[in-house]
Amino acid sequence: MNKEYIEKKQNILFTFFENAKTKNKIPHLILLHSDPKANLLDIAFYLAKSINCKEDTFACNNCPRCEKFDKQIHPDFHFIDGSDHTIKKEEVDELQNHFSLGAIENDTTVVYIINEIQNITSEASNALLKFFEEPKVNVVAILTTTNITKVLPTIVSRSSLVNIKVDEDIYSDIYKITQNTAVSTVISNITGNKQQILQLANSTEFLTMVGVCLHFMSSLQTNEKQATFVLLNEAIANFKQQSKALLFYKVLSIILIDSINKQNSNPFNLNKELLFEKKDKIISIINLLNQAIYKQQANLNMIGIIGQINYILLK
Ligand SMILES: [Zn+2]
Repeated sequence: MNKEYIEKKQNILFTFFENAKTKNKIPHLILLHSDPKANLLDIAFYLAKSINCKEDTFACNNCPRCEKFDKQIHPDFHFIDGSDHTIKKEEVDELQNHFSLGAIENDTTVVYIINEIQNITSEASNALLKFFEEPKVNVVAILTTTNITKVLPTIVSRSSLVNIKVDEDIYSDIYKITQNTAVSTVISNITGNKQQILQLANSTEFLTMVGVCLHFMSSLQTNEKQATFVLLNEAIANFKQQSKALLFYKVLSIILIDSINKQNSNPFNLNKELLFEKKDKIISIINLLNQAIYKQQANLNMIGIIGQINYILLK
């Protein structure tokens, strides 16, 4: 990530930040919001690094300050990840205590990133906002969200909002790694985050998962009963564990959505004529998968979900 990338691909962010930093008026709360497909977290990290680079408006990636940030040894940077847990008040309190005396290094702005800020308790968000109402130290929080409608209105109204665009070139970058159209299409629909892309592209388990979904689709084209067996024998056997099940639902729903879209370039090599005849069933399954994905906290059980899919297919 570098200045040229931001200037070329993220012109809203470029103008916003260039302006703010030149005038020495970087807002205390910046809320970056985007579609899940954007490389939001990579951009948030680059922005955090840019705040303390003195060589240029955006991080030069060469000076000692940038290098320190890249090595993740910067004492005045903090990261809270709301993508894997709900952010509680204790975490915000801990931040405040840590930074109550100001930055550890001279002439430095304390920066923290709070990823997926919608996953914060209202108690923690009140503590956070209070901290920013009386800034005793030079501190900037970069908040991110892939679901702006779920962010507490008190946070949205206090933040400078910047929309991050989806980088359409991401697909070709992923293809360079996987050399596989189906896998690349699935990954580019799941995430734009470089680290996650690499993780998925290099995971044998993930490749198996895409394979099972494609096996399901080819069975579905001709024989619904056989498709139900694929789910029972291959999906449940391999991906029963909750986090794997969730990823499986995402992959399957991406392919199913594509299967009823006749305009697409057919990255999964499906017989769309045959599948279109089963459109109603496919839509019911997509709705069911979406419910399963978004109600993930409800401790759902893959055997139950697959039972419901198979019921739709066989009725
Ligand atoms: Zn630098």
